[in-house]
Amino acid sequence: MIRTLLLTLAVLLALPAQADSASAPAASATAAPAPAGRDFMLTFDDGPVPGETERVLATLAQLHAPDGSPLKAAFFMVGDAPDNFFAGRKYYAPYEIWIHKGSAHANPELVAKVRAAGHFVGNHTAHHAWFRWPWLSSEDAVIGELQRWEAETNPPAGQPKLFRPPYLIETHAVKAAARKLGYQIVDGYTVGDASPIGTLYSVKQNALHYLQTAPDTGRPLVLIFHDIMPITYEHLGEIVEFLQQHGMRPVSFDPTLLADPALDDQPDSAPPQHYLSNPG
Ligand SMILES: [Zn+2]
Repeated sequence: MIRTLLLTLAVLLALPAQADSASAPAASATAAPAPAGRDFMLTFDDGPVPGETERVLATLAQLHAPDGSPLKAAFFMVGDAPDNFFAGRKYYAPYEIWIHKGSAHANPELVAKVRAAGHFVGNHTAHHAWFRWPWLSSEDAVIGELQRWEAETNPPAGQPKLFRPPYLIETHAVKAAARKLGYQIVDGYTVGDASPIGTLYSVKQNALHYLQTAPDTGRPLVLIFHDIMPITYEHLGEIVEFLQQHGMRPVSFDPTLLADPALDDQPDSAPPQHYLSNPG
């Protein structure tokens, strides 16, 4: 009996180490044939935060697109995130306890640095607004959040207007506001780096899982990271390398390669399924 228990314990302890290795012989023996590699784009939400956003920039500076050019990403920044608990309650989702987010308003030099490196800076609202609160759900309220963000970040003329609604909430009002102000909504697959139970291992596996299983639209898959989360700013290079080892290819962010959810005619879409399991 005790021997069985010890054996079970030993197997359980050994499992994560084995699964984490690149070769994973036990898994590949039973898995279906490896799917063809796929292109993916990197996006980063909820910054900028000093000391954290720069680390992601430094990693990106060492990555290259398949043609050898420096890899470009998109940063969906918060205009000026509420910095105390009670102010946060007015804007953030009711289930979101973690309230550490970035501010373009407080860090204009970081916004400039991201732009100077050739990355895109997108609108993630002024206050990381949860557009299901009654006081934030109208089209006018969404427009107010988008315009307040513009006042905080001074987007250069002629740049693509990119918008990622916080929590990927895409109600009729959100889509209508985006259309009215000429924004392209940028959807994506969140890798779980902001999840309270997220680990480097789970983030790698989530990203790989999406790349292997998401419906093939012929477009690069958009992965959503958070430049202000330690898993990402400490391990981005390792995560990308892991995906490359599995045949996936990082490509530069290019808004012309994306579908725009604001252009479909669905009246009021539910949050995408892939986001429900990983709020943040
Ligand atoms: Zn966010």
